[in-house]
Amino acid sequence: MARAMHAAMSRAWLIGAGPGDVELMTLKATRALAQADVVLVDDLVNPDVLQFARADALVIYVGKRGGHPSTPQAGIIVQMLAHLRAGRSVARLKGGDPFVFGRGGEELQALQAAGIDAEVINGITAGIAAPAAIGIPVTHRDHAQGVVFVTGHSAGSGEPDWAALVATRMTLVIYMGMRRLSDIVGALLAAGMNADTPCAAIESATRPEQRHALARLGEFADTVSRAGLGSPAIVVIGGVASLALARSVPMKTLSVGVGCRLHTSAVQIETAVRAALGSHTFDEISTIASIDSKAHEAGLLEFCARHALPIALFSREQIAAIPVAEPSAVAREHLGVDGVCEPCALLGAANVSAGSAASAASAASAASAASAASAASAASAASAVPNAQLLVRKTAHAGVTVAIASIIARTEHEPTTHDTEKQDLP
Ligand code: SAH
Repeated sequence: MARAMHAAMSRAWLIGAGPGDVELMTLKATRALAQADVVLVDDLVNPDVLQFARADALVIYVGKRGGHPSTPQAGIIVQMLAHLRAGRSVARLKGGDPFVFGRGGEELQALQAAGIDAEVINGITAGIAAPAAIGIPVTHRDHAQGVVFVTGHSAGSGEPDWAALVATRMTLVIYMGMRRLSDIVGALLAAGMNADTPCAAIESATRPEQRHALARLGEFADTVSRAGLGSPAIVVIGGVASLALARSVPMKTLSVGVGCRLHTSAVQIETAVRAALGSHTFDEISTIASIDSKAHEAGLLEFCARHALPIALFSREQIAAIPVAEPSAVAREHLGVDGVCEPCALLGAANVSAGSAASAASAASAASAASAASAASAASAASAVPNAQLLVRKTAHAGVTVAIASIIARTEHEPTTHDTEKQDLP
């Protein structure tokens, strides 16, 4: 009995929440989280993962907030022990993997010293997930026989031996390296690394706001700073980064048609678009398309501005000319058309494919875009939409409908300086 009580008291988990995308959390992690009375959450953890916690769980944020120093490590342990001794089960939730630069090792030791056996549940570490998110495998037989995970943050124990790392010829994956990036690049060059070595920095990987920059080592620090990339980001240095360079030929081939009610928030739209995108990324979106009556819909404009996406707006007549597989009674009643998101997705794709730059404008000038779009694509809309095909049929998410069409390129899409810049800039 006493043993059982002790076991109950010592239920503690060190859980890796993965890099950000909730779906990259393990089943084991979600199950443990669902049992915890108390959840101590780190900064880099996507708060969305708390959907797996019990509704009545006590959630405590212990990360750095808005530049404030994080709760001292010792304080976190004290809190955990206090809850455990009071008989509450405690989940310690950390970004990525708890044992990769997460101080999970130290916390486990402290718990063990207090006689508590915490269970460690792995997460997908950012050092693998972030490169993968832009098509970089950290090892590849043609490029690197291995990978080194290293911190760029030289606190206490001093600087990594960059020269020794260069000599390994392995992929370098640098965590916490953004603040000192130019020093690190300098050290690598000084150690004889080729200035042509491909490099990548991926910020907020696997989250909707993911961004990245690609450059050769010689220009890397400048490129990253011009792109305004900051933490959290993973830096990848080595031949494997060229696989992203190859992919950096912009593949902005998606047109996302959005239908929403009045006063839908940017967050609701974002959630719905993300759900419809599935394995596609925001980087692939060329345009957002909707009906022109949404020209002043604040949530929609904010969503577009946030992702620096142009919006194309179409008139009721243009939309009505596109057949819809499953007509919507709501759309018919309120807008006089059979559907909004599917026709708009197709019209948006046709617009881009026709190269009618005038039809796509920044979210800020959405209203003027409406009239430009009307003129530009009236002809193409009349017949079934050329150069466009529906990729994702209408999906509905909390009152927002989303459909995705892709542009069928007339010729292989050629990269332009403009596209390249757009991909790397905020
Ligand atoms: N335990 C974590 C790492 C914690 S150290 C893991 O395994 O991923 C914090 C660093 O991780 C950040 O400075 C950044 O370099 C990296 N990082 C964490 N999440 C990230 C993300 N979503 N995108 C890019 N880098 C991330």
